[in-house]
Amino acid sequence: MVERSGKILATLTAAAILALGLWTAYYYLWARHAYIVTAYCNCPICINVKDFQDGKFANNKPVHWGAVAADKSIPFGSRVELVPFLPTDWFSINRFLGGQKEFVVEDRGGKIKGRHIDIFFPDSMGGHQTAKKWGVRRMRVKINGRLAE
Ligand SMILES: [Zn+2]
Repeated sequence: MVERSGKILATLTAAAILALGLWTAYYYLWARHAYIVTAYCNCPICINVKDFQDGKFANNKPVHWGAVAADKSIPFGSRVELVPFLPTDWFSINRFLGGQKEFVVEDRGGKIKGRHIDIFFPDSMGGHQTAKKWGVRRMRVKINGRLAE
């Protein structure tokens, strides 16, 4: 009996060490590089500065699907590609973005600083309701083809 519980304990310890190792590897190799990915639309709730509700992005182009807002350090016209990793990432991209992973930086936002990408949802992509369902996600991104650290 003592010998048997010893074996169970050893197995549980090994499983715990393995799980911790996998989590540590996931965190250091992947998750800590993740960007915050949020969503917005052209409504007064999402754009709370009246002058900015003009149907145009910060670069003066008319709003359209396929655009994102990003930090000032990422120039307009830069390509941002979402890099799915976990099954939930694939689900989010297929369910809310119609499978699209590549976007172009066209906009800025007062709260869009640093490692933060904000995806624009026009009405044709579900507008505010879809932006709200998207919520706040974390995902790694490529900027102009390079995996962002
Ligand atoms: Zn909105």
